[in-house]
Amino acid sequence: MLYDFRSFVNPGRYAFGKGSFNHLGELINKQKNENNDWVVYMIDTFFKDKDEVINRIPTNEKDLFIWIDPKDEPKTILVNEYRDKILAHQNTLPAVVVGMGGGTAMDYSKATALMVTNPGDSKDYQGLDLIKNEGIYNICIPTIAGTGAEVSMTAVLSGPEKKLGIKCDYTIPNEVIFDPELLATVLDSDRFYTGMDCFIHNVESLNGTWINAMGKAFAEKSNELCEEVFTNKISNRLKADEQMMVASIMGGNSITYAQVGVCHALSYGLAVVLGTHHGVGNCIVFNQLQDYYPDGYKMFKKMQALQGVEIPSGITANCTDEQLDQMVEVSWALEHMWNNVFGPDWKNHINKPTIKDLFKRM
Ligand code: NAD
Ligand code: ZN
Repeated sequence: MLYDFRSFVNPGRYAFGKGSFNHLGELINKQKNENNDWVVYMIDTFFKDKDEVINRIPTNEKDLFIWIDPKDEPKTILVNEYRDKILAHQNTLPAVVVGMGGGTAMDYSKATALMVTNPGDSKDYQGLDLIKNEGIYNICIPTIAGTGAEVSMTAVLSGPEKKLGIKCDYTIPNEVIFDPELLATVLDSDRFYTGMDCFIHNVESLNGTWINAMGKAFAEKSNELCEEVFTNKISNRLKADEQMMVASIMGGNSITYAQVGVCHALSYGLAVVLGTHHGVGNCIVFNQLQDYYPDGYKMFKKMQALQGVEIPSGITANCTDEQLDQMVEVSWALEHMWNNVFGPDWKNHINKPTIKDLFKRM
């Protein structure tokens, strides 16, 4: 065994298929009781003026809407603010916290639902098993597919010191609604970047030293589904979106049972120093990883060409030496990822100048 024993959790309930969003009200009502009878909706700002979606949400005057701007990735300071807002909203706790959007809105909802019942600053819970109390019942509704945040035990947060997840058994959503119709409006570029997060999760787990039969089965099937979608084997967009939602679930599980690798270690460096978003950041990094993942790289370039999506380049061209060094330090600190890539003697296989050189090429 290369890593510590752990018995993993999955979401408690899944609702899957076109039209399942229409049943949100029924699912919420099951969680309400005399005291806890209201709901917090944390929704991606994209939907703010999309009446055709928002009007289908079963709202009540007691409920609280928090619009999540995905411009920046989730921050501990905002999680604390949202928690304070929720506690001030009514004299009782909410019955449900709904997170609707991409990885950003879902991770905000997962973290905030926990911080309502755990005192203090969310930055102090970044790490493994630091949360003491179960959170408010959390329903996630993905509206873009790929991160696997809807099935993961992690809410990834950027704090004053680090980008690190709150990870524990309670960080898992209690329930997930997968409705492919909600993905219809996603832009081609966002669809590709977030979809590639899933593809890269699979490539990194399959090529890592921590892989086992469970992670392998999820990753292989997930990449088969991803590749069908992004090599345009499925012409119907709704069918393709439905399939990518399954790929995302399986990709998320592949890293639960294995681990990510070089691409994620480096893209965290870009995120912390330049604020580069996860999906596009992974694509920028993966574009330079042909030596580390030659087969995955080939397929990635094929899918990119077929989708006609540009991968930004030159983003580190104006970085100072200090900024590059800071990126290297952020990446270097992600020991578990390097350990997965090369094994426990990973420091014999990679060094800081090599990582710095990779950053300079981006
Ligand atoms: P995102 O949530 O930022 O969304 C990407 C873009 O798509 C945004 O502009 C958003 O407004 C738009 N969008 C979403 N749904 C849409 C729709 N239906 N129509 C039109 N536009 C839509 O990006 P993401 O890639 O889903 O998530 C990235 C975040 O997920 C990062 O913060 C990353 O750290 C986190 N993440 C978490 C995990 C985990 O296990 N918890 C895993 C991977 C990534
Ligand atoms: Zn990822």
